[in-house]
Amino acid sequence: MGQGGEQFKAISPAEFFYKNKEIAGFSNPARALYQTVRELIENSLDATENYGILPTIKISLRELRQVEEGAHYEVVVEDNGIGIPPKYVPQAFAQLLFSSKYVLRQTRGMFGLGAKMAVLYAQITTGYPAEVIVAPIKSKHIYSFKLKIDIRENKPVVLSFSMTSNVSGRHGTIVRLVTLGDWSRAKQRIYEYVRRTAVIAPYAEILFRDPEGSVVLFERSISKLPPPAREVLPHPHGVDIETLKSMLQTQSVNPVAEVLVESFQGVGEVTAHRILSEAGIPSEKKAGELSDREIETLLRVMKNSKDIKPPRADHLSYLGRDIIVAGLTKIFNPEYANAITRRPSVYEGHAFIVEAGIAYGGRVPPLEEPLVLRYANKIPLLYDERSDVVYKVLERIDFKLYEVEFPAPLAIVTHICSTKVPYKGVGKEAIADVPEIEQEVESALREVLRDLRSYLLRKKREIEEVEKAVSIAKYIPEVSNALHKMYGVDPKVVSQKLLEILNSKLKTFKIDSLSDVVVE
Ligand code: ADP
Ligand code: MG
Repeated sequence: MGQGGEQFKAISPAEFFYKNKEIAGFSNPARALYQTVRELIENSLDATENYGILPTIKISLRELRQVEEGAHYEVVVEDNGIGIPPKYVPQAFAQLLFSSKYVLRQTRGMFGLGAKMAVLYAQITTGYPAEVIVAPIKSKHIYSFKLKIDIRENKPVVLSFSMTSNVSGRHGTIVRLVTLGDWSRAKQRIYEYVRRTAVIAPYAEILFRDPEGSVVLFERSISKLPPPAREVLPHPHGVDIETLKSMLQTQSVNPVAEVLVESFQGVGEVTAHRILSEAGIPSEKKAGELSDREIETLLRVMKNSKDIKPPRADHLSYLGRDIIVAGLTKIFNPEYANAITRRPSVYEGHAFIVEAGIAYGGRVPPLEEPLVLRYANKIPLLYDERSDVVYKVLERIDFKLYEVEFPAPLAIVTHICSTKVPYKGVGKEAIADVPEIEQEVESALREVLRDLRSYLLRKKREIEEVEKAVSIAKYIPEVSNALHKMYGVDPKVVSQKLLEILNSKLKTFKIDSLSDVVVE
């Protein structure tokens, strides 16, 4: 009993997220169904393309029974990824904040929450356990689990486990949940999410079966994968006091100079010695013996040190022009598509790359503003769009400068990739306006828009030339006939000559035959 009779206690992460589901995007049955599908697909994509595997993902939703708040749905997501070592499966799916992605590497997941929130929500709304079947790559066995979360303890409960031999040699993961959802209210979002995923991942084959029985197949349209993301050491400009302390602690018996060289990117021996002398710390001092004061000074010197190489970006997994254009072409079949990848840039010690793509015409609906498809680390962002940095930039772009007059069939793709994307919340839906990112997004958009402008201008000139040429060609038969009547010349020869003269003046196209342009 505490003072005044209050009860003090700590709760587990599972209990916290059980009580605060909306933080992770599970606020109501419709949103939860969308979030469940999304988290499972993102895990599947991470487990394939990061390891050089062209993803093949099957998603199936089936309604089992209707209930008051919606219905119980069976959600099954199957992939051909690397699988999960069986000893980690219970924690990976039934212990919150357990992840293989807590390293500095660009992934879709990052909070160690996604799969578990889906399992937790299913468990508390329908009571069904999660079923996970894994065939780890190169393993001779297939492992099946039925799992629940012990919410109070945040520990996995294994209800059943079995093992069979893997005769087919296939690898991957199947997750099956029974969860509360509301398909009719989630349908549009889920389709939009899957479609947008297909745009950004044209190298994936995605089969989606909805509860109404419709099946949509997004075929693979390019067999090139983005460069795999690789793990990096933290950059001195991005480090904080706690991280620095724990780095020094884990290597406490080593000289501090050595620890800096080994724990950070961009710090060689010369730089380490310079930083330490500036901070007034002997290079030989053991890392574990630094006082709090010294650690604070060291941090300050590191953060402000100007001549450290910028963070490395060669570990980032950007898409590149070919993949973005293939994705846009697959979905919109546009008359014009293009994309650019900006050079790496840095905010607060984190490297990032911005890409932008554009599709014009085809199946892009003509709207009063551009259709904006936002992505971060290859994840489509659907909610909170007006609060995203991309919209802030779009608001100050005058599209007339780029020959775009709305309504126009214009789709814009933005992709920001980084080991640390500054999301506005754990729901991963909008990107905060970090000035450096804002600047890069603007430059990227202006760059693709300039290309669009040249295309549209070229097209405008072509149309003008066609119109002019046609208005002249109209008179050719008339003139030939008149010459025939008056002087008996062969009208065919005359019109052929006149057409040749006209064609010799045309820059963007040629008229093959007068019957193409003259309707008599
Ligand atoms: P996060 O994706 O943020 O790490 P999750 O709860 O979604 O958190 O997943 C936890 C871990 O389980 C992942 O880090 C990954 O190691 C593993 N995992 C989940 N789904 C799959 C899958 N389909 N294939 C391989 N590994 C997976
Ligand atoms: Mg995840």
